[in-house]
Amino acid sequence: MTQIAFIGLGNMGGPMAANLAKAGHAVRGFDLSPVSREAAARDGVSIGASNTDIVAGADVIVTMLPTGKHVLAVLAEILPRAKKGALIVDSSTIDFDSAKKAHALAKEHGFLFVDAPVSGGTGGAKTGTLTFMCGGDDTAFAAARPLLENMGKRIVHCGGAAAGQAAKICNNMILGATMIATCEAFVLGEKLGLTPQALFDVVSTSSGQSWSTTAYCPVPGPVPAAPSNNGYKPGFASALMLKDLRLSQEAAASVGATTAMGALATQLYAVHNAWGEGGADFSGIINLIRGKAG
Ligand code: NAD
Repeated sequence: MTQIAFIGLGNMGGPMAANLAKAGHAVRGFDLSPVSREAAARDGVSIGASNTDIVAGADVIVTMLPTGKHVLAVLAEILPRAKKGALIVDSSTIDFDSAKKAHALAKEHGFLFVDAPVSGGTGGAKTGTLTFMCGGDDTAFAAARPLLENMGKRIVHCGGAAAGQAAKICNNMILGATMIATCEAFVLGEKLGLTPQALFDVVSTSSGQSWSTTAYCPVPGPVPAAPSNNGYKPGFASALMLKDLRLSQEAAASVGATTAMGALATQLYAVHNAWGEGGADFSGIINLIRGKAG
């Protein structure tokens, strides 16, 4: 039985840790928030006294934290206490530079490290159907894979250190930009007298097709499970989309990449958040484009 320490039992980490426990692993968890600790305890996670307490003796350490700053701080705290040679998997979505630093720090202290951000949201975390985008050497990835299979259905080895974060940032930059383009087209269609269903029937099978239309249509009706049918309750919150787009722009600046559409999408999501809609689903940006609240 693998001894797993799970740090960060929030909206994503809580259900992910629960799935590891369900799969038969001995999971000890910790979170700064008592509410998160209590919820995870109800789901079969044994709660320790602190991050350093739970990593002592663990074969695997998983972190699911808000940002790169949190991940680097937790690594500095736990590395001196963790079992030498243990595998560390960071599933948080963080900036590319912090992910590189995390790999270097872990290596320097003799640990295996994989950056493994996810897509699939809180629904995927609960049902164990996340996609993991992994960066790290072959040995570390081979060690992480069976564990990740308890929490996800697609595990992709994207390359070396921080390649998982790179893939995540690129994917979400496409998603932000295509969602905005999709919203603009549906609003233009409405103004030209098209019904949303007619436009959906064409776009979903034509060259304008993307996940933003077929799986997540931003107008109510054509895709029943989409947040547009549920008052734009997330789903994937606009605040999180803005966070990921900002990470894409930091990464682009650091390597001199031209991402004009990504930059514009970042600005538009910043306006959507400033409009007070950060907690709404990111497809709710259609209301901003329409110029009226939904
Ligand atoms: P969250 O805020 O619900 O959870 C983060 C948890 O980390 C919190 O409970 C917080 O108390 C805890 N924490 C912070 N510092 C800590 C420390 N030093 N020690 C122990 N615990 C600490 O966030 P989330 O929605 O679970 O997201 C986690 C990560 O996953 C983020 O990087 C996010 O961008 C990414 N992500 C989220 C989603 C989503 O839909 N929520 C989807 C994909 C990726």
